[in-house]
Amino acid sequence: MRVTVPQNKMFEAWNAKKMGLGSNLTREQIAHYQLHKVRQTIKLAYGNSPFYRKLLKNFVSKEINCMEDLQQIPFTTADHLREQARQFLCVSQSDISRIVTSDSSGTTGEAKRIYFTDFDQELTIDFFQHGMSTFLKRGDRVLILLPGERVGSVGDLLIKALERAGVVPILHGLVQNIPKTVEFMVQERIDSLVGIPIQVLALARYAEMTKKAIQLKSALLSTDHVPDVIIQELIRVWGCQVFEHYGMTEMGLGGGLDCEAHEGYHLREADLYFEIVDQRGIPVPDGQEGEVVFTTLTRQGMPFIRYRTGDLSRFLPDPCSCGTILKRLERIIRRKDGLVFLKSNTFFTMSDLDEKIFAVDGVIDFTVTVDSLQQATQLDVSVWLLGQSNEAAERALWDALYGVPALVQARKAGQLSVSVKIICSKDTFFPSAPKRRIMELKDS
Ligand SMILES: [Zn+2]
Repeated sequence: MRVTVPQNKMFEAWNAKKMGLGSNLTREQIAHYQLHKVRQTIKLAYGNSPFYRKLLKNFVSKEINCMEDLQQIPFTTADHLREQARQFLCVSQSDISRIVTSDSSGTTGEAKRIYFTDFDQELTIDFFQHGMSTFLKRGDRVLILLPGERVGSVGDLLIKALERAGVVPILHGLVQNIPKTVEFMVQERIDSLVGIPIQVLALARYAEMTKKAIQLKSALLSTDHVPDVIIQELIRVWGCQVFEHYGMTEMGLGGGLDCEAHEGYHLREADLYFEIVDQRGIPVPDGQEGEVVFTTLTRQGMPFIRYRTGDLSRFLPDPCSCGTILKRLERIIRRKDGLVFLKSNTFFTMSDLDEKIFAVDGVIDFTVTVDSLQQATQLDVSVWLLGQSNEAAERALWDALYGVPALVQARKAGQLSVSVKIICSKDTFFPSAPKRRIMELKDS
């Protein structure tokens, strides 16, 4: 007899099935499964990866009898990955079917390279299929606003996943020309889309300005942090549900996603074990903020053990109103390296600016440079606006900037000067990279 799982329980049911468990999943069962898998990952990495053989040489003799014992194991960092990516491999290069090169920020300036076998890519497709199925219906037409031309790229994996879910994927790629993409959305009669938050915001604002009717049921925002103001704007313009996906390439692209209650990401616990640690690297109790650290439980080509993500968040201790047993992570709004300190010893983040600047009507993108080499810190903001520049927009932008407490404080103390440049364009391209950051000029 086929049992139908309600849509809000589908993600939990998928995790349970992968863990070899049935319905009525308990935290004890999950802990037991994860401990067993963590041990397997340590064994795989120590036995096959030159990097982990060296890193773990003083630790493998220590028994991991409970998750607290895992604290004896040293962290893996993004710098390790930048410097020694190939040393991480547990398989031969010929077994690698996809290499993802990710951003080249960080102390060394080297790019990160993350390797996947066919088996590892299959894990991602499976996660995408079951994650997307929690809010899509069979036959839905889903626009993919992520790169997907190359085999194994995020868009390509998503196409495979959606096809398996009985959904119609429509690949578009990143938005380059807003009017053209909006036209495409109308023609293709899309029900849902997956895209980068600011790109989707621009489409919504342009569609509203030009009165293009788009009947969107849902949007999934991915790749960069998601400002609350963008969610609210998409709901206002399109009346759609807005879901968030959390993940990074190192996690095998996906870490978790939220449900209809929109109360934090439900974690992909069958494939990943998450910890939140304080500045000293010690795990904090649920509810307390710290850095997100994860260990892969099922990856074969390039497993990660206690990988420091640099993302700051916390586990939400109360159960989600959907009733899932899966752990919840609060939305990521800050990164450890994303705090910009001013001379008055206050700081602000891209997220602080996003919430204020994107609240201004017509804004579709902005870039920020902070020059701390001057006597008074110089903050230069360039804002891309749909339509005409006007006095009201300019005033709203200044108000937005001085809605950020750290900026007001530094300016009052005579330690900050600010310039705002407004750029109006009709066809519009996006100056920002998919992951947006504040550019800082300072003494190293
Ligand atoms: Zn939920």
